Amino acid sequence: MAVRTLINGFPRIGENRELKKVLENYWAHKAAFDDVEKTAAALRGKHWRLQKDAGIDFISSNDFSLYDGMLDTIVMLNAIPERFVGIADKNERYFAMARGNGKAAAMEMTKWFNTNYHFIVPELRDDMVFQLEPKKIISEYREAKAMGVTTKINLIGPLTFLELSKTKDGNDSFTYLHKIMPVYKQLLEEIAKLDESVYVQFDEPGFVKNPSGRMLSLLRESYQELAAVSGGVKIIVTSYFEHSLEATKLLCDTPIWGIGLDFVYGRRNLEELERAASKHIVAGVVDGRNIWRNDISASLELLERINKTVPRERIVVSTSCSLLHSPYSVKNESESAIKKYLAFACEKVEEVSLLAKLFSSGGLSEAEKSLVAENKGNVLSGSNPPLIKNGPAGDNPSGKKARDGTYRERSAIQRDRLNLPLLPATTIGSFPQTPELRKARSDYRKGGISGADYEKELKKYIDHCVAFQEEIGLDVLVHGEPERNDMVEYFGELLEGFHFTKNGWVQSYGSRCVKPPVISGDVSRPEPMTVKWIRYAQSKTKKPMKGMLTGPVTILNWSFVRNDIPRSTVAMQIALALSGEVADLQKAGITIIQVDEAAFREGYPLRKENIGEYEQWALEAFRLAVSTADASTQIHTHMCYSEFNDIIKTIEAMDADVLTVETARSGNKLLNVFKETAYQNEIGPGVYDIHSPRIPSVAEFREQIAARLEVVDEKQMWVNPDCGLKTRSWEEVRPALKNMVEAARSIRGEILHAADMP
Ligand code: GLN
Ligand code: ZN
Repeated sequence: MAVRTLINGFPRIGENRELKKVLENYWAHKAAFDDVEKTAAALRGKHWRLQKDAGIDFISSNDFSLYDGMLDTIVMLNAIPERFVGIADKNERYFAMARGNGKAAAMEMTKWFNTNYHFIVPELRDDMVFQLEPKKIISEYREAKAMGVTTKINLIGPLTFLELSKTKDGNDSFTYLHKIMPVYKQLLEEIAKLDESVYVQFDEPGFVKNPSGRMLSLLRESYQELAAVSGGVKIIVTSYFEHSLEATKLLCDTPIWGIGLDFVYGRRNLEELERAASKHIVAGVVDGRNIWRNDISASLELLERINKTVPRERIVVSTSCSLLHSPYSVKNESESAIKKYLAFACEKVEEVSLLAKLFSSGGLSEAEKSLVAENKGNVLSGSNPPLIKNGPAGDNPSGKKARDGTYRERSAIQRDRLNLPLLPATTIGSFPQTPELRKARSDYRKGGISGADYEKELKKYIDHCVAFQEEIGLDVLVHGEPERNDMVEYFGELLEGFHFTKNGWVQSYGSRCVKPPVISGDVSRPEPMTVKWIRYAQSKTKKPMKGMLTGPVTILNWSFVRNDIPRSTVAMQIALALSGEVADLQKAGITIIQVDEAAFREGYPLRKENIGEYEQWALEAFRLAVSTADASTQIHTHMCYSEFNDIIKTIEAMDADVLTVETARSGNKLLNVFKETAYQNEIGPGVYDIHSPRIPSVAEFREQIAARLEVVDEKQMWVNPDCGLKTRSWEEVRPALKNMVEAARSIRGEILHAADMP
């Protein structure tokens, strides 16, 4: 019997981002919902067909979504938050939950494990009436069936659903299990009616993140109950992104059909195979979230290893996770030196199919093996491109690994030099990206305007930003980042070793896609990247102008990285390149440099056992990047969140002179840790929520600042927005920042006045 194949899920945005386009037109009232449905059905059909043509045995339905699979599960369970219940039109309600409407704020969105995909966070409350809405699931199955494709149905498992939910009163979300289980069981009964036997894949990635005792205590019984639903439904429980050893043990005691395991990012899954051998093992051996071609010989070896315990007929060859995290197809890429090393979703489907064929027929023939040996990059031999050496990564001949001196020593020098007032007011970097700016950039890229004209536009924008900041009285200025489309792409384009795909779009949330750069070679910095702009901006003001760089860990985490060298090595190369930029900015007279680490936290490994190692090299990379800064140069870093409780030691060790974070929404709750640990360095807790179009009044800003001062010492504190202002409009930013500065000044005055009193 030929070994069977399974694809965990397929990207839904479309080869040419068709879904994105039709959704955005629909939201802008330029398309009808009918158009959305037509496009969606066409995409589903095309994706099913191509997987079928590749000979895949288990093709998913219900992997499609108009916005997000967690949101679809919320609808399936009728777990609609109160503020949306009144919206009668189901489609309108669906998108209101995702995006908010005039009256109701959107549901919260957060990152899906350690990916850059965002899901909608369920909000559960006690009076919620959970009831089954099976329509989407049933109709997609029938739609595929009508095309001659019998699908397995993807569902998000109840335990992961609850693990990721928040409850209104902060209660343990698992207390809702007994309420949602009947809905899941009823759904399985409906599914059972569809065909003689139907396969259902329960996605349970919640199992990989050091699962709580609470979750594990509920696991066996839950899947015993689900598997007991009669009618021939066969259940596969799938986890990904890491190993799930604890859960696998328990699942073996349930009558489920199969267990889906990630053997790419969860090698340790091999350890429980003995016990799991009575189940079908869906073996994720093709990386679903990186873009390199599969190493077929290595994957065959891995399958052989699994086969030592699991009989061949119970092995199903598969991807490590849903292909949602991969771009569509390499076919649409321009010719380049690295093209033949790439595999996107369509190619990964082919790889799964090829692996199953080779595995069924006893592996590679001698002829094939020699082909692999001779011809790297051949279809049988996935690998990374030869590592192109670009020369030394940076110009940091000092060989220093970190800055000299302690924060105390540096801060005394900086205070004398910078002479900043109490509660200095600043911003995080970007100012609104206007339509004119976007147009100038795109004209310049297309060759419509000359480099000189483009530069003129940017300088005009910088002039405007500087004048505005001086006028409202900010203390530390920024140039506004008009030259950057994206904080990683900008640096990637100026560094050696990066490749930019033409069409490598990956869904980030809803209709939003990102096109991560590919770090394919050694990273180095041929010439300064930001000095020209920052120096120009500084020439327009006597106040300090912040240099603005993206940090090494963030550049790494938001790129596709080679998998034949350690990530830490790549991080150090980027860091070395950045250390050269820091040195050059300093030489140009810049006294404050901000190194953004927006993605530092999302790079954290899912398993505790791996965190120490990550922290060590991520920290080293940051420290190396700023190692060229003299004691008199003030180093800032910025992070777009405020949850530091578990990483505070690492934050301390980064030793930035000033750290700005996001707290306008969360308040002091998460900030307390800085007080508890007696954090020494300066902090700028965000007081302006830049994700909202609202313009806070002076009084509101005063309240925000006063509240932060309960936790942060006045001598340590800065006043700033939560994050960059690039997505806001000038109409919002102008009055908001003016109010922010006014509030900072008035509180500053009060503190000084109180100090003068006898
Ligand atoms: N300096 C960047 C900006 O202001 C920081 C963005 C971010 O942290 N995501 O846009
Ligand atoms: Zn930010």
